[in-house]
Amino acid sequence: MLERRNPIPVQTAVNRVSEYINPLETTIKNLDDSDGYILAEAIIADHDVPPFDRSPYDGFAIVASDTAFASREHPVSLEVIEKIGAGDVAENKVVPGKAIRIMTGAALPQGADAIVKLELTREEGPNILINRPFKSGDNLSLQGEDARKGTKLLDSGKVITPGVKAVLATFGYARVKVYKKPKVGVIATGSELLDVEDELVPGKIRNSNAYMVLSQIKRAGGEPFHLGRLPDDFDASFEAVKEGLSMVDVLITTGGVSVGDFDFLPDIYKKLGAEVLFNKIAMRPGSVTTVARLGNKLLFGLSGNPSACFVGFELYTAPYIKGLQRHQKPYLSKINAILTHDFPKANPFTRFVRANIHWDGGTGPMVSPVGLDKSNAVVSLAETNALMVLPGGTRGYQKGDHVDTLLLFGEGSEHFDVENLSNHRI
Ligand code: AMP
Ligand code: MG
Repeated sequence: MLERRNPIPVQTAVNRVSEYINPLETTIKNLDDSDGYILAEAIIADHDVPPFDRSPYDGFAIVASDTAFASREHPVSLEVIEKIGAGDVAENKVVPGKAIRIMTGAALPQGADAIVKLELTREEGPNILINRPFKSGDNLSLQGEDARKGTKLLDSGKVITPGVKAVLATFGYARVKVYKKPKVGVIATGSELLDVEDELVPGKIRNSNAYMVLSQIKRAGGEPFHLGRLPDDFDASFEAVKEGLSMVDVLITTGGVSVGDFDFLPDIYKKLGAEVLFNKIAMRPGSVTTVARLGNKLLFGLSGNPSACFVGFELYTAPYIKGLQRHQKPYLSKINAILTHDFPKANPFTRFVRANIHWDGGTGPMVSPVGLDKSNAVVSLAETNALMVLPGGTRGYQKGDHVDTLLLFGEGSEHFDVENLSNHRI
């Protein structure tokens, strides 16, 4: 008899997965190799930045009061007593009537309290002429103006980006403490699947899901492992899933989770003794997305349908992979955007429409559904950079309506919320 499955709301499914996040251990990475890892320590300034007063320009370090009466008609003449470049420290003090030639980034010489840009001076033998007054403090880059010693600059849980690396390097982190990346295995199931390099033959298609999911794992900050492609055969699949699970922290399968005669994943979970957290979600596409737990590992049974597989990964698997590394913002962030085309389909369940969000032309974010909106579509995924959320129980939407849209790029969000949407119609 066909098993009946009870669909649970998307929000409940996301929350349920989050209960099983056991963060991974930390490790030490060389700064050079740390891109995309998540910081496992807060970064506190152990010195001021900049660490000394310095010149932001090429010019002259002077005593500002020397210029109090300087004008075009009566320029003040100062004797240049020394020249220093970035990295140098002046040997002399600047005293009234004197100046030191200074380059960008060089430490402010003692006695000087202003910098005059090179362009605002004229040379006259060993002297310079200045034809306007400067105030004490003019054009200085002051010690600690960027960051004060003792300030917390970055929290643990932050993704290491180019900007974060600049901060780490500034404070001498040649090695940095990060969370280990979860090892995430992918097994594609389906007797119809060919390898990428295979020629097409009747009845068969190429395995696109494995490559898509491997790439999604990387984007989510996991370490992907391609564990192969399986025919729809219970014993072979059982062994492969069991062995795969022993090698990784998270195991993803695609295909074989529905109720077809050759959908063996439900029986595999049973034989493994895995607890099924849910196997039906009130969403389109991807309602068959299944998550099971064995020990402290989760198995994500994603649909074989490429679009459903894609959406299932982004909603449930990506936040889990990020959560294992205590990512500050593991969820997709949401933005309200204007729909550019009619979307006449009704939404019996919450629908995640593969979409492209764009904001060229100064109109604010606009969202366009991309191509074929069917769970088995694959080509439209190439343009997908967002998922438009249409709540269950709503009729079709129209061009000009405002719809909440989950972004597949950017910083992410601390929370996931598809229950409080600000969709509205024109
Ligand atoms: P399933 O979830 O196994 O019932 O598969 C649903 C649909 O997705 C079928 O049309 C499959 O042929 C297709 N499919 C399954 N696995 C893949 C894959 N790895 N790559 C591309 N399409 C797939
Ligand atoms: Mg299948």
